[in-house]
Amino acid sequence: MDRVKTEFVVLDERFSRCNGDEWMQRLHTGCRWTEGPVYFPAGRYLLFSDIPNDRTLRWDETTGQVGVFRQPAGYANGHTRDRAGRLISCEQGHRRVTRTEPDGRVTVLAERYRGRKLNSPNDVVERSDGSIWFTDPSYGIDSDYEGYRAESEIGACHVYRVDPVDGEVRIVADDFERPNGLAFSVDESKLYIADTRQDPSHIRVFRVSGDGSLSGGKVFGTCDDGGFDGVRVDTAGRVWAAAHDGLHCFAPDGTLIGKLQMPEICSNLTFGGPRGNELFITASSSVYTLRVTFNGAR
Ligand code: MG
Repeated sequence: MDRVKTEFVVLDERFSRCNGDEWMQRLHTGCRWTEGPVYFPAGRYLLFSDIPNDRTLRWDETTGQVGVFRQPAGYANGHTRDRAGRLISCEQGHRRVTRTEPDGRVTVLAERYRGRKLNSPNDVVERSDGSIWFTDPSYGIDSDYEGYRAESEIGACHVYRVDPVDGEVRIVADDFERPNGLAFSVDESKLYIADTRQDPSHIRVFRVSGDGSLSGGKVFGTCDDGGFDGVRVDTAGRVWAAAHDGLHCFAPDGTLIGKLQMPEICSNLTFGGPRGNELFITASSSVYTLRVTFNGAR
């Protein structure tokens, strides 16, 4: 198994206790563009997307083997695990968000907004009230590379919420260029959303109301290397974002306090293991992991 020296770069004293294994393991390589890592503690496996190859792969922690979980996979991109342990998928090719049930059937959660097809859902997260929140940029319809080229029916790239009671799909933010990764704060009072296409690329922070609406939306942190993609929060409230040179870590006040340097352009990350202290990072052609001294939220 391949390994890479771990390099945590401390930019602020608050980052000094964020570290982990001296070497990170490269679990898999040879993909075109990895994304959408999601860990299932009950089964001890990680799923991740290889978007341009239209497949979702599965790394088995008990054997170290990687196999195909689903192919074709509707050009799946981001994933999450809901409170019941079910897989939620953004399928760029099918232009929908789905849930895979325990018996393997696939339930469509979102496909259209007011009769018009979504662009290509990119990343998704569940709130503890059961609502599903996702971003809908155009990467899956811009070309045939990671989906099917098509015109946008909606004409813009929004952030949506699927209501847990009536299933209605509503816009929660409509002033993004390319909304991408998203993550709730630990107490779910805030939602962080990356906008990849801004100059510079940045993350915005919103207040979340009980009725599922958002307010605020100021810029929380900007990217100094490439564009932000996936975003996750740890139990200390730090915000971790995937960028070109690695993971960027922001304190809750928005200060960039450190980075985890990576050998390939990063797309996303997730925390796994029974205690959420195994970090999994999708980066270009590969997937990396290391055990760290901090824990993912939820
Ligand atoms: Mg993404």
